[in-house]
Amino acid sequence: LRDPAALFEPVRKNSKGFDLSDSEVLARIAAARDTALPDAAPIIASGTAGGTTRPVTNPATGETIAEVTEADAATVEAAIAGATLWQAPVAERAEILRRAADLYEEDFGPLFAALAREAGKTLGDAVAELREACDFLRYYAHEAEAANPEPIGLVTAISPWNFPLAIFTGQIAAALADGNAVLAKPAEQTPLIAAMAVRLLHRAGVPVDALQLLPGDGETVGRALTSDPRIAGVVFTGSTDTARAIRKAMAENLAPGAPLIAETGGLNAMIVDSTALPEQAVRDIVASAFRSAGQRCSALRCLYVQEDVADKLIEMLTGAMDLLTLGDPWELTTDVGPVIDAEAKAGIDAYLTAKKGQILHRLDTPDTGLFVPPTLIRVSGIAEMEREIFGPVLHVATWRAGEIPQVIEAINATGYGLTFGLHTRIDSRVQEVAGSVEAGNLYVNRNQIGAVVGSQPFGGEGLSGTGPKAGGPLYLARLAEPVGATTPA
Ligand code: GLU
Repeated sequence: LRDPAALFEPVRKNSKGFDLSDSEVLARIAAARDTALPDAAPIIASGTAGGTTRPVTNPATGETIAEVTEADAATVEAAIAGATLWQAPVAERAEILRRAADLYEEDFGPLFAALAREAGKTLGDAVAELREACDFLRYYAHEAEAANPEPIGLVTAISPWNFPLAIFTGQIAAALADGNAVLAKPAEQTPLIAAMAVRLLHRAGVPVDALQLLPGDGETVGRALTSDPRIAGVVFTGSTDTARAIRKAMAENLAPGAPLIAETGGLNAMIVDSTALPEQAVRDIVASAFRSAGQRCSALRCLYVQEDVADKLIEMLTGAMDLLTLGDPWELTTDVGPVIDAEAKAGIDAYLTAKKGQILHRLDTPDTGLFVPPTLIRVSGIAEMEREIFGPVLHVATWRAGEIPQVIEAINATGYGLTFGLHTRIDSRVQEVAGSVEAGNLYVNRNQIGAVVGSQPFGGEGLSGTGPKAGGPLYLARLAEPVGATTPA
């Protein structure tokens, strides 16, 4: 273990982000609004990529914004065969990753435009996402310099559409900081942002044979990249079911020790007791459940309110929901953008239809296109929720004094363990709950989304993931040879 004092070294700072009240920032954003987003295609070392081309659409409008060429089997093979470990010394790798972060920040206008138009991100979410991407680059650069890791080989990175820049970049940055070669498969919904990011990483100095991009679907590209014996390890963020399929493919085809880092779903809860500050709790509930249109693994799904204060709190909550604005992600006034695609919308709609009788409140706004009005559903408890609904849908249950152990038992019984929130002013309750809830990230008296790289490593347990946590001190080691393995004593 490193000296704990090292945690406080002023060497690495998180990104300052962008101030959306700064007129210069707003002018640059406005100028980027209509930039044409470049088409995406495989970016591989041999340069000869082939595949099928299809349109990419804006979830807010349904318009085609660009095209993506998805890698065919021959392209995947060429990428695997053409991959080379990043052999530059660790200090040079770190410098290049930091330069990439600088380029991301310089290029923020087009990146925001892509986040809004390809992923439906609000500007506030785009700021947070770009900042997190830069934090990952700088954090892993810094960690690698401290550890001087040895690469394991060729690493597959499969990323989700809900953080098409931050998680995409984080996975790649970690594997590259270790000196590995990376094959990146972005989510099918968000290849344009991925291609922009890879071009910036290459411009910063990452060699093309150390970082290749393979847009495509799970069946063709994902399967090949997780079942080829030349792959040394896999980093994945997405559903628990897909993580299981990846583990199976790896077990059958890769070396037995090949690492899998999987960050998967959650059924996240928050407990609010009668000592909580109601205004603060409501603000944090709204952010946790509805920000990013509820499309975060970390999002709050089931709120447990102490019965004595439930009527009051729910009244305040529904009032706060009524103040949310649904609409064009590019408008500064928008709080909730669209869900990602028609399949997501249909799934949420079917769920809401089935739960119709239990709807307590629903934002009164046109339910058109891919927009889902934030909705509050009454449940008896988290056990009633069979699966994660990946949208702006919050469930609420009540508990009576003395029932906290049963509530925690029900939360733990879901088998997931990603985030958990607690609002209370009783210190002993914090200890009691923190000691018994099984969750990777536990937040007290704040919202439960937006883990901060370097200070709140993010990741779950049980059905929610394998660890080690992203943005934390153990992550790089999982994609590196064990210390001492390659140097004789
Ligand atoms: N790291 C994100 C957060 O803390 C969530 C990541 C995810 O949704 O996959 O909100």
